Amino acid sequence: MTLDLFDKFDSILNDFNSLPDGGANPFTVSMEKVLSPTTAIINGQETILAGTNNYMGMTFNEECMTAAKNAVTELGTGTTGSRVLNGTYNTHKQLEDTLKDFYGCAHAIVFSTGYQANLGVIATVAGSKDYVVIDADSHASIYDGCAMGNATVVRFKHNDPENLDKRLARIRRTDPEAGILVVLEGVYSMLGDQAPLKELTKISKDHKAYVLVDEAHSIGVFGETGRGVAQAQGVEDEVDFIVGTFSKSVGTIGGYCVSNHPKFEALRLVCRPYMFTASLPPSVVASATKALELIANSNLRSKLLDNSMKLNKGLADAGFDMGTTGESPIAAIKVPAQDLAIAFWGEMIKEGVYVNLALPPATPNGLNLMRCSLSAAHSFAQIDFMLEKFILVGKRLGLI
Ligand code: PMP
Repeated sequence: MTLDLFDKFDSILNDFNSLPDGGANPFTVSMEKVLSPTTAIINGQETILAGTNNYMGMTFNEECMTAAKNAVTELGTGTTGSRVLNGTYNTHKQLEDTLKDFYGCAHAIVFSTGYQANLGVIATVAGSKDYVVIDADSHASIYDGCAMGNATVVRFKHNDPENLDKRLARIRRTDPEAGILVVLEGVYSMLGDQAPLKELTKISKDHKAYVLVDEAHSIGVFGETGRGVAQAQGVEDEVDFIVGTFSKSVGTIGGYCVSNHPKFEALRLVCRPYMFTASLPPSVVASATKALELIANSNLRSKLLDNSMKLNKGLADAGFDMGTTGESPIAAIKVPAQDLAIAFWGEMIKEGVYVNLALPPATPNGLNLMRCSLSAAHSFAQIDFMLEKFILVGKRLGLI
């Protein structure tokens, strides 16, 4: 009998099949209609969206929608090709110019997703004689970029400058000439904590390492013109590569990397996740370009953080065990057991609030989280509604 290649998934399939059917299954939920950046119809019920990473509410911005519709009319629905073949339109170049202006950087390369941007830049820039040094709580795309490349991978303790210093010193002792890429995130997506970039970039530079910061959850949210945590902490000059995504604040899909490295454009010739996939469709390129212009001049950043503080404080005051403090747009409740977290999620959706159920291995330290990501488009009334429902369900489940 030939071995069934799928036997290895039995235990995960068993777990999945034991979940309740239909509306209360967090892995099969679908939006029947999306009404706005903050509301959708789910299971026939109007539901408040409290976990969509739609930080600036850009998905329904009139100017972005008009730009996208016009692009479909003028350029069609897709490019049907890679950036290095038929998939570069003038508008892709304009989007890269917009990114250069946005960051004040010499170079910008757009990828088809943020995942591919991390995959491509990390796996390509760090070669077989080099080291990639990553935070232990890094996003899957950073881990996968390491796995795809040939560099030696070293992890340091989450947000721990002393530990980073130790790791870099050890590499330098054994290999004084090695190329080193330190990979950090502006905001860590599960617990919403910011990296202490001042300390981490200084240590990296002291050891002559390059620094990449993934600003996926911080573009649009932090910094005077929304460039992210590196801008907010005043360390942009210490950062060699900024990676980001259009799938959160920018309200569409796509990824990018910007840099001042004089040879950065070489990536277009050697970076496989850039070369061997189709480029972004014109509608996405158009709405991303418009959204970046709007984000740079937005006055919604403080509204977003006020929203987050209101939800975080309300949940903490109600007695929930919080993983977040409100320093970013993320609010996460720690739930002691996985089955309780699944039940919590199911009760919340029945009450008309969609949140993210975040479980290991996507979470740090094996945590089970009810994760919210706030939007500047949420009204205080919507946050009061979320709080009311969290408290109701939390009491029902004996969590508070
Ligand atoms: N980096 C981080 C930190 C992320 O959280 C994500 C998405 N969750 C990505 C990269 C990938 O972004 P995209 O959705 O554009 O693939």
